[in-house]
Amino acid sequence: MINTYMQALGDEPSAIRELFAYGLQRKEQIGADNVFDFSLGNPSIPAPQKVSDLLCEMAQLPPQQVHGYTPAAGLPSVRQAIADSLNRRFGEDYTAGNLYLTCGAAASLSITLKALLEPGDEVIVIAPFFPEYSVWVECHGGTLVPVQARPDDFQIDVDAVAQAITPHTKAIILNSPNNPVGVVYTRPVLEELAAMLRARTEQTARPIFLISDEPYRELVYGSVEPAWIPGIYSNTIVCYSWSKSLSLPGERIGYVLVPGSVDGFERVYAAVNGAGRALGFVCAPVMFQRIIERCADEAVNIAAYEANRKALCAVMDQAGFDYIAPDGAFYLWVRSPESDAQAFSDRAKEHELLVVPSDSFGVGGWIRLGYCVDEQVIARSAEPFKALAAEYGLNPR
Ligand code: PLP
Repeated sequence: MINTYMQALGDEPSAIRELFAYGLQRKEQIGADNVFDFSLGNPSIPAPQKVSDLLCEMAQLPPQQVHGYTPAAGLPSVRQAIADSLNRRFGEDYTAGNLYLTCGAAASLSITLKALLEPGDEVIVIAPFFPEYSVWVECHGGTLVPVQARPDDFQIDVDAVAQAITPHTKAIILNSPNNPVGVVYTRPVLEELAAMLRARTEQTARPIFLISDEPYRELVYGSVEPAWIPGIYSNTIVCYSWSKSLSLPGERIGYVLVPGSVDGFERVYAAVNGAGRALGFVCAPVMFQRIIERCADEAVNIAAYEANRKALCAVMDQAGFDYIAPDGAFYLWVRSPESDAQAFSDRAKEHELLVVPSDSFGVGGWIRLGYCVDEQVIARSAEPFKALAAEYGLNPR
């Protein structure tokens, strides 16, 4: 009668959404200042002033220019402006014809997987991973193959990836800077991965694509610079959005980049257009296409995230929790003092601390804290975190 897989997806509870809903309810009961919600990845830094100024300017344009259809892949001038910006930054020679504009990174990934996958294809993901990967891979006929990251630093375990490759492997999804860990993959690790993939491809004559999911590309701290992955492995397709880099997650704007160096470029780019058409992801929001044309080189000032990162790490040190020091994104990955992360998250709730158990990301034993929050939330959470740590007998570091 209906697609039962879709029904099950719609009915499936989401740990993150449930925590967030619980937090809203709890704030009503005991006051917003007494609940410490680290559950969501919703940017807390406002979009740059230039975006608001351009919005006012857009309102003066003829309605058809800001409300009308554009070509399915997006306005050529907008795609060219994005290509020019990438070329300036990464020394490439992309054109409008390498880009397909989308409704955010979610659409970019869904389109890319739909474009690449044939029934029975396998897609490797590095665990812990963004939970929606499993939905998109499975919906487009593929099988998800999680490979654990290295346990000490959560970089890619290249030997483990090599072992997971089979004749059915079509693609590997990478996400750097990473949600949920905050790790940024180093150039040597990416080069090692690329060399292994090139050797494999030569043996089998079947290309393996890297799909680089990069919504956090501009969110890096200190002197860390994320490597430009298509410059390391030519068979890379980039899925990007301005959801985090311009704090515009509700505006739904992003792109798929298919570099000319991708194996069978013309067929792949045609398949991306076909997948966009099949999924109804055509003509990304036009007002924001035009805004991006003028903001292609902009990003939010991440000073507030950097301060939050430092403050939250200090809170963890004072309480005695172990964590992975993040180089990017806005998440802190903290070791659960008991192996059951869900049980630990439930216990944290008793202190009004809302933290996401790692099971949602395909691994056990950790929790994720989103520090895209008001600085006061972090400051006020210090005592409850200490009290929680004391229940587990942890000592300040
Ligand atoms: N990929 C990762 C790793 C994310 O964390 C997110 C959103 O949080 C997305 C993709 C989806 O991004 P968008 O909101 O641009 O669709």
